[in-house]
Amino acid sequence: MLYAGIEGGGTKFVCAVGRSATEVHESIVLPTSSPDATLGACVTFFADAEHKFGPISSIGFASFGPLDLNTKSPTYGHMLATPKAAWSRANLLAPLRSRFGAQIAIDTDVAAAALAEWRLGAGRDLGSIAYVTVGTGIGADFAPRDRLTNRLMHPEMGHIGVRRDSRDSFAGLCPFHGDCLEGLASGPAIYQRWGTELANLPPQHEAWSIIGGYLGQLAATMALMVSVHCIIFGGGVMANGLLLPHIRAATAASLNGYLEPLKPTGALDHYITVPMLGGRAGIVGALLLAQSLDPNLRDENDLQ
Ligand code: ZN
Repeated sequence: MLYAGIEGGGTKFVCAVGRSATEVHESIVLPTSSPDATLGACVTFFADAEHKFGPISSIGFASFGPLDLNTKSPTYGHMLATPKAAWSRANLLAPLRSRFGAQIAIDTDVAAAALAEWRLGAGRDLGSIAYVTVGTGIGADFAPRDRLTNRLMHPEMGHIGVRRDSRDSFAGLCPFHGDCLEGLASGPAIYQRWGTELANLPPQHEAWSIIGGYLGQLAATMALMVSVHCIIFGGGVMANGLLLPHIRAATAASLNGYLEPLKPTGALDHYITVPMLGGRAGIVGALLLAQSLDPNLRDENDLQ
């Protein structure tokens, strides 16, 4: 079996082929331009890979969103309205379907990263996890999904409302909500407030506790609503690790001792953590999506 994976992001696409999610034969990084050009380049890469390694048995597509993932919808696998205008309403599956007979599984990049971290990364020994990415936008999803597979659409937790930090007068930049979580704590919101990336600000700068405070509210909300075993924070804004203690402190402050399992000293150090697969979570997740279509692995994949 040869699995193909695509991680589609707002700035780059990663394509890979392999015999399993961790046994990759070849991969490529492509710039995100127009849907025709970028998806066309993916098709070319996979066609070349078939010449080298044999037929592709299934394809996993982990894409930035929002996506139409309703299998009964006539626009299943299409991008919904997005600020990346060229990609709004784009049919992500058509270019692949016109060239390959293989089945395709599509999900959001965040859902795929959650799956990868749960199966092979920081959550591999745990019953359930949440994965949050903090970058250009803020997204989050859960794994496994066996109890909640049929949803209206994918979660959009980046847009929850948060309690404002009294030190923060920034209006927020979400075009829909202004000062929702993403409007206040995403990479662009940080840049617009302080004129640089978080990583460039000194550790004692109030930005760290303000942003960590908002993300801690998300972590507390997820702990209260879904009660996963672990929350993993990834994405560009998390990169240097300095934000994590602020998120833990804000989660503790927000819960205020209410959830017994998270009460003991140090419990939140395990509960709120970083991805073990690092930047590879998305493409590994895409290959796991491809693998999930393999009838020979049905027992294993039922766990997803
Ligand atoms: Zn919003």
